[in-house]
Amino acid sequence: MSRRKKIYEGKAKILYEGPEPGTLVQYFKDDATAFNAQKKAVIEGKGVLNNRISEFIMNNLNAVGVPTHFIKRLNMREQLIREVEIIPLEVVCRNVAAGSIAQRFGIPEGAPLPRSIVEFYYKNDGLQDPMVSEEHITAFNWASTQEIDDMIALALRINDYLFGMFSAVGIRLVDFKVEFGRLYEGDMVRTVLADEISPDCCRLWDVQSNERLDKDRFRRDLGDVMQGYTEVARRLGVLRESGSDIAAAGE
Ligand code: C5P
Repeated sequence: MSRRKKIYEGKAKILYEGPEPGTLVQYFKDDATAFNAQKKAVIEGKGVLNNRISEFIMNNLNAVGVPTHFIKRLNMREQLIREVEIIPLEVVCRNVAAGSIAQRFGIPEGAPLPRSIVEFYYKNDGLQDPMVSEEHITAFNWASTQEIDDMIALALRINDYLFGMFSAVGIRLVDFKVEFGRLYEGDMVRTVLADEISPDCCRLWDVQSNERLDKDRFRRDLGDVMQGYTEVARRLGVLRESGSDIAAAGE
């Protein structure tokens, strides 16, 4: 047995070399960070839930024609993905004012936005992921105008799908962050959804009570993080009713 090669370690995930060329294994850690890693914790079982929730969402998005890097889930904490070249941008889509947009523009948290808004942030921890315009993106060669168009169109399609999916289980999709990658296929390159979609990168509020079921529980000390994430997984039907997965997640 040889140790597999680590390709990259981020704050919440590790990427290992995959079994075949052009594939990687994405491992979900239990680590949580906020405020540019100034706040840190290990939340036992978080990686297991995020792996399952992200698998469910990526499979559904694939089924409605959104291209993603996702191939299949391998085990409790790992999924097989296609190797892509990550575009160094965080793409945020918002339906309701919360977090940084509420702060930046002085909008009360919870106010519906006049329409869904897509924003770009430059992925750079040293600079604390500054918000950037399309001018910055093309001038600094982070992405082409075609890729910007692709990312906006895909973010809005993902938003439409997820908004409906979460509404059906009594959850309001306030906002979310996605990342995209370049998938090279011969001499073609395609923009595909990469990374993960989980309560780590979405704001998810209970429709009735506005209870936060997402990472704001960790950022703002709003209660047990696993309880919120487990509730999201349970409502989406990705956990066995017996609760054995929930117990296993905390192991
Ligand atoms: O903090 P802000 O309001 O800009 O976050 C918008 C959305 O993007 C939230 O759902 C948040 O969880 C997500 N986000 C993220 N990673 C970041 C910044 C924001 O997942 N580095």
